[in-house]
Amino acid sequence: QTLRQLFKHPSPKYTLASIPKEKQKYPVNGSLLDRVSLWQGDITKLQVDAIVNAANKRLLGGGGVDGAIHAAAGRGLLEECRTLNGAEIGESKITKGYNLPAKHVIHTVGPIYSYSSPEDVELKAKQLTSCYRTSLELAVKRNLKQIAFCSISTGIYGYPIEDATDIALDTVRNFCESDTSLEQVIFVVWSDKDKHVYEALIPEYFPPD
Ligand code: ADP
Repeated sequence: QTLRQLFKHPSPKYTLASIPKEKQKYPVNGSLLDRVSLWQGDITKLQVDAIVNAANKRLLGGGGVDGAIHAAAGRGLLEECRTLNGAEIGESKITKGYNLPAKHVIHTVGPIYSYSSPEDVELKAKQLTSCYRTSLELAVKRNLKQIAFCSISTGIYGYPIEDATDIALDTVRNFCESDTSLEQVIFVVWSDKDKHVYEALIPEYFPPD
């Protein structure tokens, strides 16, 4: 299945294949690179096994991507979310996708970023790492093959995009090195600025041969 076939409506504007060769941070197994891609657009349009929602602790919808996902998924999603009893920061819970083209939604609760001390920054980084790791673990546990992440915590929650992207890429890379069952991890960006950050950093974590 090609990336193009994953989209119900739009064709992908961008895939990893067009990333220029850049200096390698560390060597990577070629097959890892085949499993990640970058796409700019609306995550609610993706026809994949699971999309990851940047939710809040209540798991009952909200602004940003959370609102977009609930609006596109319909009331069924909200009803199932009511049975989940919320989630802690760094925790992830899975539901069906209802009216979305995606089969499932993984709801993860990112940290709200604020800079108060180096310890605080470290805690937020651990929590954001946990969002990615627990989402990936859930996908594997349910035997899902594709997962699409939005850029968790970098919108309303204010996490600096460069730092958050480092965490996203590092966590996915570490996970995919030991797990071989996930076939496709898609990083979904909304803004051009975020796209540029991912374009610059992906080759460091997933360098082309
Ligand atoms: P958070 O509260 O975790 O910061 P936001 O929803 O505010 O979550 O933003 C998370 C990221 O999702 C941001 O990069 C934002 O630009 C992006 N985003 C917003 N709407 C969509 C969408 N429909 N599809 C994909 N990404 C989106």
